[in-house]
Amino acid sequence: MAANQFDLVILGAGPGGYVAALKAAQLGLHVACVEREPALGGTCLRIGCIPSKALLESSEKFAEARHELARHGVRVGPVDLDLPAMLRRKEAVVSVLTRGVESLFKKHRVTRFTGHGRLAGPGRVVVDGAGAATELTARFILVATGSKPATLPGVPLDGERIGTSTEALSYPEVPRHLVVIGAGYIGLELGSVWRRLGARVTVVEFLPRILPGADAEIAAEAQKLLARQGLEFRLGARVTGAAVAGDTCRVEIEGGEPITGDRVLVAVGRVPNTEDLGLETVGLQADEKGRLPVDEHFATRAPGVYAVGDVIGGPMLAHKASEEGIACVERLVTGYGHVDYHVIPGVCYTQPEIASVGRTEEQLQQEQVPYRKGVFPFLANGRARSLGQTDGRVKVLADARTDRVLGVHILGPRAGELIAEAAAAMAFGASSEDLARVCHAHPTLAEALKEAALAAGGQALHF
Ligand code: NAD
Repeated sequence: MAANQFDLVILGAGPGGYVAALKAAQLGLHVACVEREPALGGTCLRIGCIPSKALLESSEKFAEARHELARHGVRVGPVDLDLPAMLRRKEAVVSVLTRGVESLFKKHRVTRFTGHGRLAGPGRVVVDGAGAATELTARFILVATGSKPATLPGVPLDGERIGTSTEALSYPEVPRHLVVIGAGYIGLELGSVWRRLGARVTVVEFLPRILPGADAEIAAEAQKLLARQGLEFRLGARVTGAAVAGDTCRVEIEGGEPITGDRVLVAVGRVPNTEDLGLETVGLQADEKGRLPVDEHFATRAPGVYAVGDVIGGPMLAHKASEEGIACVERLVTGYGHVDYHVIPGVCYTQPEIASVGRTEEQLQQEQVPYRKGVFPFLANGRARSLGQTDGRVKVLADARTDRVLGVHILGPRAGELIAEAAAAMAFGASSEDLARVCHAHPTLAEALKEAALAAGGQALHF
């Protein structure tokens, strides 16, 4: 094969693109991956999931040392924050993981091109890198260019006082008053980080509730717990503008009192990266939301051009993008590849965590699906008691006719880990009785899931 001729060229090395590249190489394709950032891994590894989880963990330790350890009989001296060290640790975590993707590329013989990749007609990609442009040819092209933070009209980002999650991962000092616009995943996670580190945090949300799309009952309970930690909420409040004067930001609320703070985090969703991709050279166009329309096999209308992850519809989640990347290349090589969209878990890494998979109660009501509901609170779980983390509950929703599990929603300690069992059960079409009959180790948090499954059949033993 000539030097720049490949079976598959992938645009973007985030969780959609890099995982697809590894899978395709494993399946025997000659693969290139084009990435404009020096580090591989995309938003998730560089400026999203991973650094935010590093800061969530560090800030949780700080809060624990300050407020929790004494309850465990552990006396510590004065607890001080070393923010530069915390930020350096976060960078180190990111660096290890992004370099890990580099070595995986080497191991699987994926050729990496650095620069902005653009379609240049059927089967052709041009990479604008540091030197002269490079032309690549391929049988298949996969667009996995991800997304970027959405902006709000009237709220100009200045990269300093008013910024997105990218800036909020690296504030050089703890804000006095951080105004967060949007009570979604990013707003709650990064709002929690800075609250724990000592900032006053006000979360302004347009809807009358937090976490749109999450199970409403779970979201309402989570809001109470977060409020107890000191997060202030202004719900049903639409931000219409923001301006900076010196080190003060004034955030305007439609029909309400403005809020002043020293930093503003705009967390109002993300938009697909489909600009400047040369889509027109293969007769493609993004839709009104900037997404690339694809069929059930991730094929765009242009022959040989595919797309996965945040650039297509569905939840903007790293693991959803990876599953799509794998399914897409599996289908190209083997003729079969599939993503079960009913079983895509979601986790918000607040304290406690909020995790879910499958349908919410509201969705089931809307779809008029008869369901039974089993709830088990962590305060009745032995392991949660020993941890001293008894807030929250597990909720199992099962079809009233067949008992098949349709949704599981967990607010509680390590919910993000616990949800994997629910996802595995649902992927295999388990009933709530199946889940309830599985022997769970004692004492574990996972027993709360078993008990909630028992409760769905009216058989809870410990509550
Ligand atoms: P989001 O869509 O989760 O939440 C944005 C919120 O902003 C919504 O509740 C919306 O009603 C509100 N909003 C919009 N305009 C507003 C206005 N003018 N005034 C007040 N509120 C307004 O978006 P996000 O939190 O920015 O996250 C972006 C994406 O990244 C999401 O798709 C999410 O799935 C993903 N993400 C996932 C994780 C995770 O899995 N743990 C973490 C971070 C981000």
